[in-house]
Formats: sequence, structure tokens, C-alpha cells
Amino acid sequence: MRSDTRHVHQPADEADDFESLAPPVHHASTVVFDSIEAFERRHERIYDGYSYGLYGTPTTRALERQIAALEGAPRALVTPSGQSAIALACLACAAEGDRILMPESMYGPARLMAEGLLRPLGIAITSYDPMLGGAIAPLIDERTRLVWVESPGSATFEVQDVPAIVGVAHAAGALVAADNTWATPILFNPLARGADLSVQSLSKYASGHSDLIMGSVAVRDETLFRRLKDVSRLLGLGVGADDAFLCARGLKTLPLRLRHSERGALRIVDRLLMQPSVRRILHPARPEHPGHSVWKRDFNGSAGVFSVVLRPVERAALDRAFKGLRLFKIGASWGGAHSLIAPSDPRKSRTDLAWLPDGQLIRFSIGLEDIDDLIADLERFFAELAPAADRIAIGAAGVAG
Ligand SMILES: *Cc1c(COP(=O)(O)O)cnc(C)c1O
Repeated sequence: MRSDTRHVHQPADEADDFESLAPPVHHASTVVFDSIEAFERRHERIYDGYSYGLYGTPTTRALERQIAALEGAPRALVTPSGQSAIALACLACAAEGDRILMPESMYGPARLMAEGLLRPLGIAITSYDPMLGGAIAPLIDERTRLVWVESPGSATFEVQDVPAIVGVAHAAGALVAADNTWATPILFNPLARGADLSVQSLSKYASGHSDLIMGSVAVRDETLFRRLKDVSRLLGLGVGADDAFLCARGLKTLPLRLRHSERGALRIVDRLLMQPSVRRILHPARPEHPGHSVWKRDFNGSAGVFSVVLRPVERAALDRAFKGLRLFKIGASWGGAHSLIAPSDPRKSRTDLAWLPDGQLIRFSIGLEDIDDLIADLERFFAELAPAADRIAIGAAGVAG
């Protein structure tokens, strides 16, 4: 072997007697075969074996098996984003002439996908009030292939009666897909509640460090899994080995991170209740929140993401309040170690918000910082919003916890 060849052909892997607690990271575009017959039959390996890096490596398959186990599903598939997981689920279940029902509280970019991609393909999209529960039945016609649920909903956090929706959807021959990004299977298990597809953005809690984008779809049915895999292959959706490794690493600490965020969010909510500038807290654990009783019935707890509606406030004061924050960062996405805050305007895209009081909506994601430090940061925030006479030290207010 000459030098150029030696640069290319590395020594054989001698890892046979090496074991560690970190899974190996397999990078691949090309997968090699030991015979032309094996090469020619490589497409038979699409669902389980290995044929090409895009269709799976031991690293991505291991992550898929772990997600399937957490979802209580025989099968799961990872995708390059939560957004692509939603698009994939829709495209695998519906074709021209079919209908998909989507809640008004659905993740905004997914609604845009439905309008900009699915509708031009001839798939009818019907919006529904997320609080309908079983009363969704009259909207399900013979063309309806899929009923989408997202519980709690993005920005406004209405909790949907998923078992009731599953009941009427299945009776009418439609499938149910659940975007379970907020709860993760730890707090709510869509497949155990009858849904056919459980979708997550792994970019949020699962990976947990605000440093990667990935999604997943888990299903019970093998035929549906193969359809999803076929569509994923046709679209060329694949996930890189390093991101798959990082996501698998994130999953190890997910239960601890989620519990910390839950506790922190509940403590902060207790204090925000006393703030004169807060008009409403949109958190499923609040008794007045839409779907609170369903949340108590169906969920094992709450995540650290919630919203508040402020009393009317001048834009300049709002601007100052956001700028004064030191720990909370202004940004989209959530579920990472850093606490985030972002304004949101759900009224721009929704018609079912008569229950929601007027005022600026702000979404919080509680991260892994010390909760007292976060409370001190919010004290600065609300000091900018409240007229001096109304100010209450939020560190001193509310119940201790
Ligand atoms: C963020 C999010 C998505 C999209 O996930 P990406 O991985 O960012 O594409 C989908 N659904 C919900 C509820 C989300 O919060």
C-alpha cells in the first residue's frame, strides 16, 4: 500500500474488547456490502437493516428504538425537525381529496405547512376549536383521514380531551395524530390514550440543550410505520449521527430536567398570580384554565412552558422590561437549560379566543437555573410594568415553595 492509499484505508477497528457507557457514533453516507447480491438486494433492508446512510445508521436506529420504548410503541422514526415530523405524518396519512382536521391551537409553523403545502396538494384542511372534545364528531366526514391534536396547544395551552376525540375519530374511520412536544411521553402518553401517531419535536425537552433540531413519529401499526418510512425515504429525510448521539444523551437526563422545570414553573406561577400587571396565567395546572380537569385526569404533571396575559401596557414599558432581564433570554423554541421568554400574538391566526382576556401574551420556558434567581429576574421585569403604587415584590408574595 502506498502513502495515498494508506491515508484512505485506516487500520481495522479493534474495538471488540472495548465497552463504555456511551454509544458509538456511526457516520455514514455509503454503506458497503460484501457481495454484489447483497448490494442488489439492499432495498429490502430499508425498514430494519442498513442500506444507505440517509435511511438509518446504528446510531439513528438506536435512538429510534429508545424513543419507541419511551412512547410504548413498537416503532418510531426520527426526522430532521419537529416540523418535518408533522409534515411527514400528514403526507403519510392523507392524499388528494382527503381531509385533515387541525386544532386552532396547533403549532403555528405547522398550520402554515398545512396551508402552503397540503392544501395545494388537494388535501382539505379544517380548523376546529381545541375545546370541542367529542363534539368534533360532526366535522369528521367520510373524506377525513386524520384528526390532529396538540395538547396543550401552542401559546395558549388549552388541554384537549384526546380520549374523546380518539373515540369519535376511530368510529368514523379516521386516524388521530398527537403533537406531544410539551408533555413528552413522561407526562402524557398519546398512544396509550388511543392515538395512532405520537409526534414530538425532539429539539425541545428531549434533546434539552437548545443545540439541535430533530423530530420523531411513533406508531403502533407496522403498515403505518412502513408508509411513514417510505414517504420519509422519498422525501430524503435523514438525521445526522452527531445530532442523534446528542439527542440520545439528552434523553438520559430528561426526567430530571422536566421535573425541575415543572417545579420552577409552578413556583413562578404562584408568584405571578400576585402581580397586578398579570391578567391571566395560561397554565394547565390553573383551575380556571380551559381543559384543567382533563389535564388532571390524563396527565402525570406539567412541563415548564406556560404563558401569561398582561394587563394593557405601553410598548415602551414592555420593551424596557424585556431589556432589563438578565437570566431569561428572548427567543423561540424552549425546553433547554436556559430559561426563555417571548411575546406571542395568537389572535392574528385564531378565531376561537373569546375566552382569552385582552393584553399582551408572553410565553415562558423555565430552564435549569436556580428558581430563586429566576424569580429575582422576573421581579425586575414586573417592576418595569407595574405603576409604582401597585408594585408588589414578587419574591415576597405568594406561597413559599
Ligand atoms: C417547536 C415545535 C415544533 C417544531 O419543532 P422543530 O423541531 O423546531 O421543527 C412542533 N410542535 C410543537 C408543539 C413545537 O413546540
